[in-house]
Amino acid sequence: MCSFDAPSDDSNATSSDRLSFSSTDSCAHGAPTFDPQGGSPCQGDPQVLLRWPSLLLQALVLVLTTSELHCSLLVFPALQLTSHFTGIGTAEVAADMLRSSINHALGCNVKWAHLSCCDKSPKCRQILLRRPGLGCIFGNIAEYSRGLSQLMKQKSLDPDEAWEQLQQHFALSGGFCHQHQQTCNHVAGHCDISGSPCQPWSRIGKERGRHDVRFALTLCWILWVLTAMPWVAIHENVIGFDKNVFEELLGAVYGIVHIIVLPGHMGYRFTSRPRLFTVLWLKARVAMVHDIRVTYDRVSQVVRQWQPELSTSSIYTGDQQLLLEVENAFRRKRNLPCLTEASSDWTYLLGKSETEHLQAYLTMWGAQRGTEPHTDTNCLFNLGQNPNMRLSWTSRHGAMPTLTAASRKLWSPYLGRWLIPSELATAMGFNTGASAQTGVPVDPSVDLYSHAILGNAMHVASVGGVLACALACLRPIDPVES
Ligand SMILES: [Zn+2]
Repeated sequence: MCSFDAPSDDSNATSSDRLSFSSTDSCAHGAPTFDPQGGSPCQGDPQVLLRWPSLLLQALVLVLTTSELHCSLLVFPALQLTSHFTGIGTAEVAADMLRSSINHALGCNVKWAHLSCCDKSPKCRQILLRRPGLGCIFGNIAEYSRGLSQLMKQKSLDPDEAWEQLQQHFALSGGFCHQHQQTCNHVAGHCDISGSPCQPWSRIGKERGRHDVRFALTLCWILWVLTAMPWVAIHENVIGFDKNVFEELLGAVYGIVHIIVLPGHMGYRFTSRPRLFTVLWLKARVAMVHDIRVTYDRVSQVVRQWQPELSTSSIYTGDQQLLLEVENAFRRKRNLPCLTEASSDWTYLLGKSETEHLQAYLTMWGAQRGTEPHTDTNCLFNLGQNPNMRLSWTSRHGAMPTLTAASRKLWSPYLGRWLIPSELATAMGFNTGASAQTGVPVDPSVDLYSHAILGNAMHVASVGGVLACALACLRPIDPVES
């Protein structure tokens, strides 16, 4: 149980860069793991996966060498970061985890500053306000352009007309900042990380693409890039995103690389979240000295090898108090008296359609997979989805159903309940702090998470993997002024 192989030398390894892993680095330290029925095998502690930043840095040293990294943007001493469509601040969390690993692994003292972030959702901003070290928190990307709100009111978008209209009204002035409770200026930093709305491109949506009014938000971000001119901009969206728009609108001034990224690359094999990341770099100020995509591929192969293979059930919590709180919250909604102990079966809390979906899923699982859902620890059903329309369940490779903003309860027949938000947050790479042994600060906002909020989020380790490889492959053209 809890086996963890020490990293083996990769074929790309340079002989001078030997890795050292202390034994305390390996799995779980005998921490309690989930065992609801007694006798089930140790599933491993997903906290161990939070070591991806340190593994990533060691893999970068192997692939690019320490001296190369010391010339790269990775060690740029005062990198200023911004984000748009910030959500719950995944990019900021990833950057913080990465920065402390850079300082540790490369013996430097980089201080990255979070200049500003921006999200329209008050719930997300509530979470952002709890995160330490964030700068300005703005509420709406529409502050850049009066034209945007008008465009969003239309039924469908004429993308060329929208681009014209956005340009006429565009300005980087000030906006209300929720962090400082005043009007603050919109300022540009060195590196922006933004995942623009995915609904126009999502398979689950209507796939109206560039004619979906929400595409105006992406155009507004592109215009911001052209105006603020960050050295690096990282964009995230679903695989179906029309990436040609970057070449068309930014190709003259920005270098562009697209990478398909899976959480499994950094060790989160049970999380299904394939995404298209685009790295843009300002050709006048930074140069790509190593191929970002090739580097990402090589580095992620190494990290994946070093991470243990954990199954979905490793994220299941055994915290009875936490489960009791969730169950009682739902009981209160039904005017049921609170319990003093969590029950072993939550089916009584399901709504009518959820109950129907569950029954259909159980029948279909038996017919298609041939296993008994109640004993299959990895079997999960998305009860928000009618399985007669589309199946949203654990993949044949054991990956959880994809979380989306519309995700409702992910039901485990084995557990007799749905997964609670802190379990989903673990799957999305946040440190929910079940056993704080990782050196990564416990997320201060876990209690505010919901299915919808997490369904909209980027995966922490995916953002971190792309950010690290991008910065490691880029170099400032002019000598860095101190
Ligand atoms: Zn501010």
